[in-house]
Order: sequence, then structure tokens, then C-alpha cells
Amino acid sequence: MALEFSPSNLPLKLFINNQYVDPANPAVFSVHDPTDNSLVSDKVPLAAEADVEAAVAAAETAFPAWKATTAAERRALLQKLGALIEKHAVALQELSRITLGAPYESIGKHETVLCAQAFEYYAGWIDKFAGEAYPQENGFMRITRHEPLGVTAGIVPWNGPLGIIGLKAAPALATGNCFILKPSEKTPFAALALGSLIKAAGFPPGVFQVLSGDGTTGALLAKHMRIRKVSFTGSIATGKRIQKMAAESNLKRVTLELGGKSPAVIFADANLDNAVAWCVNAITMNSGQACFAASRVYVQDTIIEEFTKRYKSALEERAQAIGDPAKQGTLMGPLVDETQFNRVQGFLDRGTQSHSLLTGGQRVGDKGWFVQPTVFTDVGPDSELYKEEIFGPVAILNSFKAESEVIQKANATEYGLMAGVFTQDINRALRVAGEFESGMVGVNCISLNFLTVPFGGSKQSGLGRECGRAAMEAFTETKTVMINLTY
Ligand code: NAD
Repeated sequence: MALEFSPSNLPLKLFINNQYVDPANPAVFSVHDPTDNSLVSDKVPLAAEADVEAAVAAAETAFPAWKATTAAERRALLQKLGALIEKHAVALQELSRITLGAPYESIGKHETVLCAQAFEYYAGWIDKFAGEAYPQENGFMRITRHEPLGVTAGIVPWNGPLGIIGLKAAPALATGNCFILKPSEKTPFAALALGSLIKAAGFPPGVFQVLSGDGTTGALLAKHMRIRKVSFTGSIATGKRIQKMAAESNLKRVTLELGGKSPAVIFADANLDNAVAWCVNAITMNSGQACFAASRVYVQDTIIEEFTKRYKSALEERAQAIGDPAKQGTLMGPLVDETQFNRVQGFLDRGTQSHSLLTGGQRVGDKGWFVQPTVFTDVGPDSELYKEEIFGPVAILNSFKAESEVIQKANATEYGLMAGVFTQDINRALRVAGEFESGMVGVNCISLNFLTVPFGGSKQSGLGRECGRAAMEAFTETKTVMINLTY
């Protein structure tokens, strides 16, 4: 069976209580194709208060029976959904690509497989997420249980429109919560199309729902009095607003996966081919629109000349693979939209005036939002290029002499998502990994993730962790039961 939706049959309804429905009060928004800015649709439904209420009510009705399902029943549903997502990976990616512009081979496939695998992986956790039993003391036995929170929500960004859904929805559902998904207003279609697969997999009505909308829809979820958790991925500014709304409403639980400005530190003994390959992929993947992109590169002074030569040449080679994301062989597509393009272009214009440019710096072509991979050199810690997340294929390259100096430089931002150290010296690798102020560290690698281990940031890059067991904990409350054995 083919996926019901395609670019010529877009999903243009909300998915509430296992039905595709129009919003209660007709409101819509538009999306454009980033390769030429042509209109893709001006009829995407914008969920407002009545729609959020309908979804929350359906979720509340579904919750008691859903949390009581056996592990085997829940596991089968998650596995089925994962299999359906995998089966329809190309079609789902097409629905993402038409407004995101990400090529299938270099990013789309990875993203969809991540989503499918998240459902399969968390299906496996359901009957293994045990509580604890403590030694008996004075006639009391104590046990802990992981209880679902109730109605939960996920608010996701546009840069990983499917993968990030899996990281939130799968652990939420695996732990017995109901889940309301709000995709980004820039990439709504793959998420809306999931509705047909949720139903086909056999999920009961109200358990997994999808509301397209913008920040106003997200805010309705974040401040809702009967939603018990919001898992958010997006910018720091929005993350702070969400935490405030959560605190001022019902103190709902919040997980925040926010921006990054990740340093890659390359010591003189590193394998240079490996370091160059990771640094190039890390800043060109998804056209640099990746939270964990290695956007600050520090190279030890004795090898900076050789590294610079190879890094520049590899980035210029990658620039040859910029083009139509629908074509095979394209590795870099456009930026997501005009707003993002103008933002990146602003950094390039200002950067070119005050810093040396190693490569790039220009728009590619005169239509669509394509930008060359760009590197500025000798950028000091006061520069906006050093301090701010650009979210485009733009990196800075600096040299260093000593380990202590580079640790100080690497930590000199408010971000703390990921860092990488490249060296053959295991002692140094572990020492530096310990000193980085970041939630994740790569040794001889950077800008990567695994479903099985915690993913998340320190400092202003986030709060809480996704993936692995950490996500199961984040979607549950620990309940302590104390049993008096005397009576
Ligand atoms: P964004 O903050 O603008 O939007 C993210 C989501 O929040 C969207 O769905 C949007 O509609 C919604 N939103 C906007 N305003 C809201 C409000 N007031 N209340 C509730 N919801 C609201 O971010 P973006 O531009 O979509 O995504 C890019 C950012 O996401 C970058 O900073 C990037 O680093 C970050 N990101 C982080 C991770 C991670 O795992 N740490 C992964 C991917 C992206």
C-alpha cells in the first residue's frame, strides 16, 4: 500500500482522535519551496485553542486504557509504526524535502531511519524499564515505579522534521503517555502524513495526535493546564519562553534541546584526513542547519597550515555538490527559507567586512536559498561569528598552541551541546573530554548521535536528555511505594 499523501496530495488537515479534521476556526499558513521560493501551499491548517482543547480532551479520554495496555500490546503498536515509517521512508522524505530542501542521500534518509528506529528501539524498552526494590528496613519494604505523566506534547523544529519526532513520541508512548505533536510551521507535511500511519498501525484514538501550527499553537500547548510535559527542540529564545510558560501554568515537566556552537579541537598528532572529513561533514550536513554542527574549529599551530589547505579544498569540493535536493548526487540543498537565508547572509556580509575569509561567503545562483560552505579565520571571542549560532554552513577556524589555551577557548560561549577532540593520545582525549563544558563529546569524531545514549546539552544548550533510558525517565514520574509488612 502506498502512502496516502504526496506532493500532489498534501495532508492539509489536523490529525485529532484518529481522524483528519479541519481546524475548528479556519486559519491557515503558507509554505514555500526553498529551491525557488515557489508556493507549495497556502492552506496548511493552523491549530488554535479549540483544536488544542479537542486534542487534549481526546488524549485524556484515551489515557486510562492506554496506560493499562500490556507491554506486549504497546510494543506491537510501536514496532508496527516504526515498520510503516521505514516502508514509506522515501514518500515521507519527499513531503519534508519540498519545504526543507534536504537531499535524501545526505540527510533525508538518515532522518527518516532515525524516526523509524526510535519506535523500534523504544518498543524494546517497554518491558525492561523496571523500578527498584530496596532492602527491607524496620518492617518496611520500599519500591519505586515509573508512572506515565498523562497528556504530553512535543514541539519540534524544521531541521530534523522526522527524526526529532521519533526521539520524543516513541519514549512518550512507550511509557504509557498520550502524545500531541506540533511540527514546525516550516515543515508540516511529513508530520501530518504520519496520522495515516498512526491509524494504520492500530493506535487507539487520542493516543498520538498531530496539530500543525506556528508558535501560537506551541504556546497553547506549553501553557496548557492539563498537559503534563512538553518536550521541546528549537532555539534558546523559544526554549526559555516555553520553560516560563510551563512554570507559570501547571509546572509541567520540560525537556529542552536547544542550539549549539560546537568546537572541534584538532591536536598535532591527529589523523588529519579523519579530522577534515568530520569537520567538513559536520558543517555542511543539512546545509549547516544542525544543532550540533562543528562551527568552531581549533587546530594546533604546528599543523594549521596543512589542515587549512585540506579543509578548504574539501569544502570547495563539497560546494560542487550543492544543488537540487531532489537530484541524485546532491549533497547540499538550500537553506530552509528566505528568513533563514537573510539571517545567514547577514552574518556573511558583516563577517566579510571584519574578518578574513578562507572560502565561500557567497550565495549560489540567483534563485532559491543556496549558500556556499564558508570559513572565516582568526575570529576572536568577541565576534558574533564566535558567539552566535548561525545555523548555516558557516564555521570559524582558529589556531592554538597549548591544551589549556584551547580548552578555555572552546568553553568561551554560552552553548554546551557538543564538542570534539581529535588526537591519537588517549590520555589527552579523555582529559580534554572531561574539561569540555558540553553535554556530549566526540573523540576523533564530532556532530553525531546514537539512539542508545543520552543526547542533550549543558549551559544554554538545553535541559534534560533525549535518547537511551534517559528519555524513558524524562517521560515518567518516579513513584515511591512504602509497604508496612507488619500488618
Ligand atoms: P524555533 O525555536 O523558532 O521553533 C521551534 C518550534 O517551536 C517550532 O515548532 C515553532 O513553531 C515553535 N515555537 C515558536 N515559538 C513558540 C512559542 N512561543 N511557544 C511554543 N512554541 C513555539 O526553532 P527553529 O528555528 O525551528 O529550529 C532551529 C533551532 O533548533 C536551532 O537553534 C537549533 O540549534 C535547534 N535545534 C536543537 C536540537 C537539539 O537537539 N539540541 C536539534 C535540532 C535543532
